[in-house]
Amino acid sequence: MQKVTSLPADDALPGWYHTSASRTPRPAHVGQKQARWAIVGAGLTGLAAARQLALNFPDDEIVLIEAQEVGFGSSGRNAGFAIDVPHDIGAKDYIGEVKTANLILQLNTLGQNYLRDIVRENGIDCQMSESGKYQAAVGEQGIAILEAYRSGLEKIGRKTQMIDGKDLPEHIGISYYKKALFIPGTMLLQPSALVKGLADSLPSNVTLYEYTPISGIHYGDKVTLVHDKGSITADKLILANNAFASHFGFLRGRLLPTFLYGSLSRQLTPEEQARLGGKPVWGVIPAHPFGSTLRRTVDNRILVRNSFSFHSNGRPNEKLLRHYTENHRKSFERRFPLLSDVDFEYSWSGAICLSENHEGFFGQLAPNVYGALCCNGLGITRGTATGKLLADMIAGKQHPLIDFLKASPGPNKTPPEPFLSIGVNSVLKWGHYRAGMEV
Ligand SMILES: Cc1cc2nc3c(=O)[nH]c(=O)nc-3n(C[C@H](O)[C@H](O)[C@H](O)COP(=O)(O)OP(=O)(O)OC[C@H]3O[C@@H](n4cnc5c(N)ncnc54)[C@H](O)[C@@H]3O)c2cc1C
Repeated sequence: MQKVTSLPADDALPGWYHTSASRTPRPAHVGQKQARWAIVGAGLTGLAAARQLALNFPDDEIVLIEAQEVGFGSSGRNAGFAIDVPHDIGAKDYIGEVKTANLILQLNTLGQNYLRDIVRENGIDCQMSESGKYQAAVGEQGIAILEAYRSGLEKIGRKTQMIDGKDLPEHIGISYYKKALFIPGTMLLQPSALVKGLADSLPSNVTLYEYTPISGIHYGDKVTLVHDKGSITADKLILANNAFASHFGFLRGRLLPTFLYGSLSRQLTPEEQARLGGKPVWGVIPAHPFGSTLRRTVDNRILVRNSFSFHSNGRPNEKLLRHYTENHRKSFERRFPLLSDVDFEYSWSGAICLSENHEGFFGQLAPNVYGALCCNGLGITRGTATGKLLADMIAGKQHPLIDFLKASPGPNKTPPEPFLSIGVNSVLKWGHYRAGMEV
């Protein structure tokens, strides 16, 4: 038996999880079970794969297994930007090769449309709004990035609007930024409410088990997933557990679990809302990739997301969370001096899966084992799209985006530990420093 070498154990206070409607989780699995299909990981990718597999194989049972509660993991801890446009930080104009950029746009749009339709059909209350996003800059370096990105987006037919700092308070209330590029197309949403709603609206041939961490596997003609209360044997397995796939024996040394940190304020009073001004709902992404992401939510809270750390076991670190929560406070007070008495109610961390070459994995990992893994921080749209398309690929359906994903070289090999952790954490610290006042 292959032992799973690390299990998820996310920290206690993800704001979106606690401020969305609570639900009764599905019971953990107990005993022995056989099914045609098993999926590990009920985040955005696994939920999309399960839904689509169930539609493609209506007579089969699909077993979806989650170590924690749905909505508590990274898919419910993110900043809630469902982004359509590509943003290639390795390219001068952040778009790069136009043909590839157009395929990425199609992929992300497929993910957006898929989610939008499910949310509407099932009445999922997840504060979804077609708000677009502001990419905002504090200094000259950031403004140059915005100009380059604007010209890149034009190459793929995307019209944007450059907004001068003096006009920004009409949009986002604050006058902290020198310029912002408004990019329509992004949807903003409450991520934990979304994934909770996706889980509760799965087709009837999906059986979801929560609180069932898989701790061992037998690979062979069939795949047996072992946990501390029993086992599940399936003809075919899909791994949708992002960087934890390496602890199942795949893509070792290629998946980089990188932690991001978020804080959510208490709700603003009507008087504070009037003091802030601007639109009731908005989202800001920093021009510099290591800067702060901000949101004003439908329920009148402010989200601040910044700071990064790399932990190869995919598990959080409480000390770093406390330290980075202080960064959030400083970033908040710099931007919202008129709201300096507004406290954070929740602070948390969550892992994204990055790769050194920004490529994900899509396709077959071994006989009877498939994966849609490593969405490089764009899980809402890309994770959803790759989960859906993997289920289509397995069902033998053709789609140009399946060919595009299969043609990827996959995540690069990285140096061994301890060099990897030292190297990645140094790059993250250097990026944080270089982002300056954009943090
Ligand atoms: C603070 C933060 C901000 C972010 N902002 C954005 C954003 O604005 N927009 C965006 O698109 N993305 C954002 N992301 C990234 C996004 O959250 C991820 O890309 C997304 O969660 C990936 O989805 P997934 O389903 O592939 O993986 P995950 O959400 O990581 O789901 C994998 C699941 O597998 C489960 N699992 C792992 N191992 C086992 C096991 N042994 N047994 C059973 N279950 C297991 C885990 O518990 C987990 O729930 C952000 C992430 C963070 C942390």
